[in-house]
Amino acid sequence: MARTSVTSVSERRLEGKVALITGGASGIGEATTRLFIKHGAKVCIADIRDDLGRRLLESLGSGTNARFIHCDVSKEDGISKAVDFTAETFGTIDILVNNAGIIGNKVPDIREVDLHELQKVFEINVDGVFLGMKHAARIMIPRGKGSIISTASTASTIGGLGPHGYTSSKHAVVGLTESVAAELGKHGIRVNCVSPYGVPTGLTLPLLPAWWGTGLVMKFFYAVAGFMANLKGVNLEASDVAEAMLFLASDEARYVRGLNLTVDGGLTVVNGQVK
Ligand code: NAD
Repeated sequence: MARTSVTSVSERRLEGKVALITGGASGIGEATTRLFIKHGAKVCIADIRDDLGRRLLESLGSGTNARFIHCDVSKEDGISKAVDFTAETFGTIDILVNNAGIIGNKVPDIREVDLHELQKVFEINVDGVFLGMKHAARIMIPRGKGSIISTASTASTIGGLGPHGYTSSKHAVVGLTESVAAELGKHGIRVNCVSPYGVPTGLTLPLLPAWWGTGLVMKFFYAVAGFMANLKGVNLEASDVAEAMLFLASDEARYVRGLNLTVDGGLTVVNGQVK
């Protein structure tokens, strides 16, 4: 006899919820914005790229419950204003997605790594995540609920996938997730992170030589990369990562706390290495 599910997963899983998504104007953040809206959420996109933010709002249509605010996540004032703007516009914040991030240059020799460049990666990838958590907590603690999701990376648990600054910053995102989950769990707030493997976005472009970064050559590169990934049975898209965000944001994940949810098609499970 067919089993009936105990809980039913509604089609609009974030109906009426309010989300703030940093780095929401492109790539994984854009896919998450689109999916959250499809599931009934009101979304505030906070990004440093006004042009991309405005373009996304236009493509979503004027009747959509979405807003854009310019925000540099590495600045406390910027995050604080984005949190206040979201709460004032939509009444509260139920979900924060700390997604803004940069990768930095891949320098093969540690002796050549510029400390200031490494610190810049930390300012966005770590300070930005911490500040998001800190200011979302202002809104969420009095309400006794909320979901905070940060975008880490498969580089959050293993070395050699990205530059030193990127890898160590993403390890720190997991550390912050666990530390803050332990504290905010007492207030009913869930704190988790998602770790994707390579998704073709603006972030992964700097890994290519500069002359590859435009036009046909770039398209050719992605076609080849997509073909190779397909051979391994994995062709990750930003929307795959957004689905993981949706789960962690939804009430169905009410007992999921302090998790680092890997979305890599299993590419990193064999000996902890990408095969
Ligand atoms: P992306 O470049 O398309 O998106 C990043 C967004 O963050 C952009 O819209 C950018 O304008 C914004 N941003 C950058 N600095 C900012 C700042 N200081 N303040 C506010 N916004 C800022 O790249 P993506 O791949 O979608 O990256 C999103 C997240 O996913 C990042 O945290 C990244 O580390 C993580 N990630 C990506 C991959 C991948 O393969 N693409 C893999 C693992 C993890």
